[in-house]
Amino acid sequence: MTTTDTRHDALGEATLGELAQALRGELVTPEDPSYDEARSIWNGAHDKKPAAIIRCHGVSDVVRGVEFARSEGLPLAIRGGGHSIPGFSTSDGGLVLDLSAMNGVRVDPDRRRIVAQAGCLWQDVDAEAQAFGLAVTGGLVSTTGIAGFTLGGGIGWLVRRCGLTCDNLVGADIVTADGQYLHASEDENPELLWALRGGGGNFGVVTSFEFRAHEVGPTVFAGIVFYRGEDAARVLHGFGGAAANAADELSLAINLTTAPPLPFLPEEIHGKPIVAVLGVWSGRAEDGDAATRPFRALAPVVADLFSPMPYVAMQSLIDPLYPRGLWNYFNSAFFTDLGETTVDALVSSYTRVPNAMSELHIHHLGGAMTRVPADATAFGTRDREYILNVVARTPDAEGFDDVSHWARSASAALGRDAASYVNFTGEGGDEHVRASYPKATYARLTAVKDRYDPTNLFRLNQNIPPSITPDQQP
Ligand SMILES: Cc1cc2nc3c(=O)[nH]c(=O)nc-3n(C[C@H](O)[C@H](O)[C@H](O)COP(=O)(O)OP(=O)(O)OC[C@H]3O[C@@H](n4cnc5c(N)ncnc54)[C@H](O)[C@@H]3O)c2cc1C
Repeated sequence: MTTTDTRHDALGEATLGELAQALRGELVTPEDPSYDEARSIWNGAHDKKPAAIIRCHGVSDVVRGVEFARSEGLPLAIRGGGHSIPGFSTSDGGLVLDLSAMNGVRVDPDRRRIVAQAGCLWQDVDAEAQAFGLAVTGGLVSTTGIAGFTLGGGIGWLVRRCGLTCDNLVGADIVTADGQYLHASEDENPELLWALRGGGGNFGVVTSFEFRAHEVGPTVFAGIVFYRGEDAARVLHGFGGAAANAADELSLAINLTTAPPLPFLPEEIHGKPIVAVLGVWSGRAEDGDAATRPFRALAPVVADLFSPMPYVAMQSLIDPLYPRGLWNYFNSAFFTDLGETTVDALVSSYTRVPNAMSELHIHHLGGAMTRVPADATAFGTRDREYILNVVARTPDAEGFDDVSHWARSASAALGRDAASYVNFTGEGGDEHVRASYPKATYARLTAVKDRYDPTNLFRLNQNIPPSITPDQQP
């Protein structure tokens, strides 16, 4: 008998039946034909079997789900877009609250605000906001959920101009562990808002987010330029030099990867190492050519696909490269500059890349993100110009341990004490979570956890455990 069967039997038909009756949405259990689809998440490495999944249709379903998990002692997983790399949005034998049906967006063009329900993907928010020429920093892949993304920080093509996504979070509705429905803003529960801006899913189930929006596009100057893999060191050094003078409107990343068999790349380079520099100039589109030019002449060019394009087109340009179901492991490290030592470490990891699906992403940060004081939000690592995200992938279990090992060593090569980013971390565990927050931030997050989730109901996440012991708990 599996864990799921045991848990399901222990819960009993009557209990689940009562829950199902009380919901507006659906309760999916292992007997349902839709169970396999309902339990799957983006990362194929996490094939778990929950006792039940609630497809929530509103706040009332979320409240019932939280109360049910608490009263039955079930592990509780919260799912927005389902893109968690460590697989936190599912669990064996637990209850999953799937918010994907809650995907309404309301844009207020006059106040420049976006209110989005927690099940939205970036493609939902971008489409609605762009109808009014607005945007907030969103994901590089449009199928990523806004919820986990925002709560962990949020690095995207507007990060240097508009800051992290969480820097633009001005309000949130949230169901806490005791089933209360609270609003967090500067005026109401401000410490909770502070924690939601980078502290992850530790404090409750956010049901909707309110963002400050910015005028963007609809046409931006954006795209990708490709260089040969053998020019990696030259490109990295040149990028570092050019980046020092880049305007905030320009956010770019470097991808050390393997050439896919795409028609705009010469056939002889397919399957060989290739370096992509990609990103967005979100200032006046007519200034984009000049602003991006220093980054499009870093070495002999294989192909240059930068051009004016709709912001929403850029937001989904690389979607096909990140399909659902592959086995994925990510690891990350913030770093300060593209000096000799760092470039050597990056190129050395690149030459040892274990397969054509695995790659090194280097995001250029700085700009508006750096100007937010480190203690203003729970996202405290703001003094580094770059972050490395190592993406290690296999089609299935074969070779997965080896690629994960490579990813860990590639980020470790940038220094043992390098801070990491919860959203680019493929595993949980105290050590990883602590490495993602400055000490003072971690202590403050623990105090918020003590107040809003003293029994650690929300622990399937990059967990910040409460400091109070079980006998002190309410
Ligand atoms: C293909 C891909 C591209 C990515 N690109 C970027 C990128 O460009 N920039 C970047 O910064 N990150 C990026 N990431 C990382 C991404 O930010 C995280 O994986 C994030 O957790 C995804 O959010 P989600 O809602 O889709 O995930 P989910 O798996 O649904 O949720 C992840 C976790 O967030 C918490 N959570 C989710 N919803 C709620 C809620 N409503 N209330 C409380 N807690 C909640 C839970 O702890 C949950 O386990 C990417 C990931 C992938 C797989």
